[in-house]
Amino acid sequence: MKRVGVIGGGQLAWMMGIAGKKLGVELVVQTPGKKDPAVEIAKDVIFAPVDDATATGELAKKCDVITFENEFVDLQALSVLEQQGVCFRPRLQALAPLLDKYHQRCYLRDLGLPVPQFDLWQGESPQLDFPVVIKARRHGYDGQGTFIIKDFQTFKEKFAFLNIKDNLHPADFLLEEFIPFAKELAVIGARSVNGEISTFPIVETQQEEQVCRRVIAPAEITSKLAAQIDSIAQTLLNSLEFVGVLAIELFLTQDDKVLINEIAPRTHNSGHFSLDACETSQFEEHLRAVCGLPLGNSNLICPCAIMVNLLGYEKSRNDYITQRQQIAQIPSTRVHWYGKIESRPGRKLGHVTVLLEEWSYDKAMAIAHNIEAIWYYRHST
Ligand code: ADP
Repeated sequence: MKRVGVIGGGQLAWMMGIAGKKLGVELVVQTPGKKDPAVEIAKDVIFAPVDDATATGELAKKCDVITFENEFVDLQALSVLEQQGVCFRPRLQALAPLLDKYHQRCYLRDLGLPVPQFDLWQGESPQLDFPVVIKARRHGYDGQGTFIIKDFQTFKEKFAFLNIKDNLHPADFLLEEFIPFAKELAVIGARSVNGEISTFPIVETQQEEQVCRRVIAPAEITSKLAAQIDSIAQTLLNSLEFVGVLAIELFLTQDDKVLINEIAPRTHNSGHFSLDACETSQFEEHLRAVCGLPLGNSNLICPCAIMVNLLGYEKSRNDYITQRQQIAQIPSTRVHWYGKIESRPGRKLGHVTVLLEEWSYDKAMAIAHNIEAIWYYRHST
């Protein structure tokens, strides 16, 4: 497999394209925007929305296998192509239980995997105790569509607002218990065409306003917990007969139990550290899997790494070169800039990874805060 079609042309496809160069694999991308990050690195581009299955039919003519950088696709329309012999990796059946957050929760529960209590909204008041979390069943990302609701009054107001603003119906939402977690964790798992599995180091992720701000690798957890999370990844990858990389986001409760928050059937922000800190990056691992190659070694090459997202904090067309250069002066730092021409609050514009010579939470956090002080400096003054 030498040519991989990718549905989606954002930063994940861009980083996959860089990994592809190393493997001699070319990417053809389906993405709507001429300035989308992956356009510059792709061998060819089909300019179309990601849910345009007719365009994916054109994409199929230009590549050997099709994969995904996001899940906002029209699965039913794509299944016609799959029946005609187009090769999707992961296969569409592996995506089917995951794209809707309610279906995903049901799938995980039925597999016997630990999830928070959840429900659909039926009637006036939720069956769960407040605070509750409501989540759009589809098309949520970076916390868009996720709301933490403290009481019934706020609950009613939120639904009324969403109804007016986006014409959404209660049935479009999943309700779940609020987990007062001690930490959030994540793991990237990969499965090859032959069923070989690799898992990346388990990381701690830190979210603010539901958006990932930092990732520390590896997470400080017991080997028993690590083995349990590894086994969750294995169960899931095998039961889906997944080919490629998927991400599992987890809550670690105060009493050391893990609950799955979400599965992303693709490369993920929580695995960006692997570009600089692992033998093989999540992007290379994904391409290896979908191209039918043996998987690489997913071990860390350093005792500790911290990844910090560079999130937009204003509406602007700035390339922030001064701040990026200043951050790059921090020892053992790699700055990854996605080349987006427009900045908006909360938009992921780039990320920074710093490798440390020893595992130290305090040192990792001090470096992260230093980077954030440089990056957000205009915002805070
Ligand atoms: P998205 O799919 O947009 O990334 P998530 O469902 O992963 O949204 O939620 C984003 C963040 O919101 C989580 O990382 C967590 O910090 C918080 N969150 C989500 N669900 C819960 C919950 N049930 N309890 C507590 N916090 C939650």
